Amino acid sequence: MSISQLARTIKESPTLALNEAARILRERGEPIIHLGIGEPKNKVPITAILSSAAKLKNGDIKYAPSDGLPSLKKAVIRYTEENYGRLVAPENVIISSGDKQALYNLLFAITDPQDEIILLAPYWVSYPEMVRMVYGIPVVVTPEDGSFIPRFEEIERAVSSYTKAIIVNSPNNPSGAIYPSELIGQLVELCESRGIYLIMDDIYHKLVFDGHHAPSAYQFTTRDVEESHIVLVNGVSKLYGMTGFRIGWAVGPRRLIEVMTAIQAQTTSCPAVVSQAAAEGALTGVQSFVEDLRLTIQNNRDVMISELQSFSGVRVEKPLGTFYCLPDFRAYSSNSVELATFLLNKALVVTVPGAPFGMEGYLRLSFSGSIKEITEGIDRMKWALDPNSPNEIYIGDRKLVRDWL
Ligand code: PMP
Repeated sequence: MSISQLARTIKESPTLALNEAARILRERGEPIIHLGIGEPKNKVPITAILSSAAKLKNGDIKYAPSDGLPSLKKAVIRYTEENYGRLVAPENVIISSGDKQALYNLLFAITDPQDEIILLAPYWVSYPEMVRMVYGIPVVVTPEDGSFIPRFEEIERAVSSYTKAIIVNSPNNPSGAIYPSELIGQLVELCESRGIYLIMDDIYHKLVFDGHHAPSAYQFTTRDVEESHIVLVNGVSKLYGMTGFRIGWAVGPRRLIEVMTAIQAQTTSCPAVVSQAAAEGALTGVQSFVEDLRLTIQNNRDVMISELQSFSGVRVEKPLGTFYCLPDFRAYSSNSVELATFLLNKALVVTVPGAPFGMEGYLRLSFSGSIKEITEGIDRMKWALDPNSPNEIYIGDRKLVRDWL
């Protein structure tokens, strides 16, 4: 079969691949614990359901403008004003099928072959693949001090005449770290002075804990959105636990949004209108939902961290946002793919290997599920990895047998 050279090199998403493996095992009746997936357990807000149901009920489900329904764009404009203190025009906003598509359109719009996009390790797994899909080169900056946030000097050193953008994801998937204000300010200045884009993937910006806030890049520039090099991407997936609706957006200079709209028009025409109605319902409905979700996840985080702190050999940094933490499992294995596979097969616990995030020897663990899943999942991992634990345990009537990694 003929497959393009580029397509052959695109890796499948490790998180989605593990989800699939877990789904098959679960279908077979295996008592799987999922610490891999990053999606809250909640039902979506009722305002989202009512709004999409009303759309369905009137039966008028047709193509919509390529850049999104005007009413949803209006809701995003209000969100931007409330959360970033910036009043933007409808021409500065595009609605896409998820933050993911907004980001892909953006990278397509700004990258010429061999252009470089700077990624900061640990980074979200899809970034390097998306950059390569538009014939760009991902340039990874890994913190030399072994921390989760590169220093400004390290990032500055990676900028070349081919650099088109720096992608920042704070709070960060997979580490849960929040980038400090000073660094965001320095990056805004760097990007503005060098004429490169600062892409802020803000998909987790409201999922923050202990009174911390993720600094907004806009607060460090006096330029208006037209002149600025900042592009925001965000969406309803994590904010409202609406991953299945596939609605995200980008905010940026209008010429850039125009080009992204042309790309979207030629590939998907427009995001599904029923989903857009749902997103509008969520954004314009009662917002206590977001705070409730945040508190639940913060509580889950506390349970996860206390479980991991009593896990011999494991080192973990307390995440300040998102629903992930990135513990160091190098005491057990330096090969995170092997370790995750072992844990899935022996303990029936899904974890995500750190390697594709640029963090070999680490595992990404999600605390977006229930407290029971977190405690039982970590207990099973402790059992599987402790050479002194009993060789067999029972989960209901399913016997788990431990043989060493
Ligand atoms: N950016 C980051 C950093 C993410 O972690 C995710 C989801 N895992 C996305 C974007 C994708 O969001 P969406 O569902 O809106 O496409």
